[in-house]
Amino acid sequence: MNSHVTVLEIDGNTLTHNLQYFKNKLEQDTKILVVVKAFGYGSEATKIAKFLENNVDYFAVAYTDEGIDLRNAGIEKPILVLHPQIPNLELIVKHQLEPNLYNFTIFNAFLAFADAKLLLNYPIHLKFNTGLNRIGFWHTDVPLILSKIAATSHVKIASLFSHLAASEDLNENEFTINQINDFAFIVKQFYTHLSYKPIVHLLNTSGIINYPQAQFDMVRLGIGLYGFGNDKNETNQLKNIVSLKSIISQIHKIEPGETVGYNRAFTANKSMKTATIPVGHADGISRKLGNKKYSVLVNNQKAPIIGNVCMDMIMVDVSNITCKEGDEVIVFNSQEMIQEIADTTDTIPYEILTAISQRVKRLLTC
Ligand SMILES: *Cc1c(COP(=O)(O)O)cnc(C)c1O
Repeated sequence: MNSHVTVLEIDGNTLTHNLQYFKNKLEQDTKILVVVKAFGYGSEATKIAKFLENNVDYFAVAYTDEGIDLRNAGIEKPILVLHPQIPNLELIVKHQLEPNLYNFTIFNAFLAFADAKLLLNYPIHLKFNTGLNRIGFWHTDVPLILSKIAATSHVKIASLFSHLAASEDLNENEFTINQINDFAFIVKQFYTHLSYKPIVHLLNTSGIINYPQAQFDMVRLGIGLYGFGNDKNETNQLKNIVSLKSIISQIHKIEPGETVGYNRAFTANKSMKTATIPVGHADGISRKLGNKKYSVLVNNQKAPIIGNVCMDMIMVDVSNITCKEGDEVIVFNSQEMIQEIADTTDTIPYEILTAISQRVKRLLTC
């Protein structure tokens, strides 16, 4: 097997389960865009995209380079680049990526580029700000956008979209409903003035769960695919897709008074057995997990991290665990463990997953 390396295993079967779970919540003809930004939420974007390509309609990435990686891996489905940048327009077109144009600076730049290159009906996506106040056109921009679109045949609006600010938080229901209504009003103006119907999409994972009435033509599935529903009950319906595994590099026997790791942060008060694991903060294991804040699993038993997390290693207490050098270590292999890491480090599973660094090998099994 994957001996002697730390590896992030990605379970293809559970990916399929999670995708199907969300499909079952949607109308039959609602398209699915799968968000594979940030290396597929820290998993492996190209492998995930290849694995799912025949079952989804669209992919989205944050940045141009991420889209180029997908094309280089042979992905043929349309790829929306959520945050393209003006210096990348040439690359975007070269790789048949579809830019999100979110203000007049980039919209005008792309129109000028499309004119110069004599592109015909090049697919673009227009994003509207309805309350997140991150990126997006404002609703008052619609007339000028429409007049510019009417004057060119170089681009065609592939989709209109917006993003909810608090789809996971039902206390913000009123705000979200306003966002939905504002977006619907913007879309209506495009329907009135265009001779074709762009794809319309608004919902992320929590949006699908809480506001299915606003699914329009397509949804953008991110964290849910990777096993988290931003809600305990929903997460229970999903399956974990990523497991971080390693091995024991060395076992030490230490005596009372001896210390472990940098700054001598741990002192033994009895005879102990410790194991050194080749995974550290450079792999995405937060230093906040050291000093017994978190336990890995060695032969199915909890082994707390003792002392400080090093860049490349952690030391764990295996005094009461039967184990030997070379044995498998599970850093996490369940949603509960990932959630525990997130809670302990004051963050959310999104950050834990995306923090697993590129040094860790990815292995897709199915
Ligand atoms: C990241 C992102 C998503 C996916 O959100 P999840 O909460 O992970 O489902 C959808 N839309 C946009 C614009 C995004 O940036």
